[in-house]
Amino acid sequence: MDLEKTLLRKVGEAIGRFQMIRDGDRVAVALSGGKDSVALLEALLLLARRAPVQFSVCAFTIEQGKFLRPVEPLGEWLRSRGIDWTYYHDKPSFRLLDEQPDHGCDLCSRYRRRAVYEVVSGLGANVIAFGHTADDFCESFLRNAMFTGRLSALPPVTMSGDGQFRLIRPLCFVTEEITTEFAGSLGAPVIPCGCSQKTGTVRRQIRDLFASIEKEHPTLRQNILAAMGNLQPERLLDPRFLGVNAQPVVPEHFTVLNNP
Ligand code: SF4
Repeated sequence: MDLEKTLLRKVGEAIGRFQMIRDGDRVAVALSGGKDSVALLEALLLLARRAPVQFSVCAFTIEQGKFLRPVEPLGEWLRSRGIDWTYYHDKPSFRLLDEQPDHGCDLCSRYRRRAVYEVVSGLGANVIAFGHTADDFCESFLRNAMFTGRLSALPPVTMSGDGQFRLIRPLCFVTEEITTEFAGSLGAPVIPCGCSQKTGTVRRQIRDLFASIEKEHPTLRQNILAAMGNLQPERLLDPRFLGVNAQPVVPEHFTVLNNP
């Protein structure tokens, strides 16, 4: 398998299918320091050279005090490749870390979102690309169905709340086997985040579940991805799609009978 060809084909398919990038766009890649965003950045740089639409690419990293290693080797690697990269030390996130060291993901991502919009405004970009992979889409789909009572995952393309930025996730068809191998082949110094080392989370449980089922059914994630793009709402329980005048079902509507 030609890894680069496979990655570009899948990224190109996502960009085309969901009209993620348009002529004249300036795309800012959110570089988290991990293998996924490195693979995304490289894929977009390659596509910018050969795609029929004209667009430019830059990258940025938000430092929130969670990296386990200094970010400088990544910076050196990016600069040696002539990549337009901005490193942003987010002071409010560091204050949050001091004042509430055990804060959860909700607060952390709210701080990151604000910092992302601040940085990208200064970069003159109108599109922000995130490195969520096919694995993230599948996990999010299952997590929402199992724990929130909603059938949803992540938006492949959407607008920021104020309409200023188009937010895109061009790796939605790319699995982490591909990003890991591709980032490794580039020799990029990947920087782990302290949170990614934690175990015992729901995310980890879902990953383990996928890995165990895939021993016998290797196309599991492909099937889940296909299901997200092939809805049959008339075979679900949402009355809005059934021509019935009733409210959508919420979890409390169900009575669960426990075995005596
Ligand atoms: S996993 Fe860590 S870095 Fe990511 S949102 Fe949660 S607290 Fe923040």
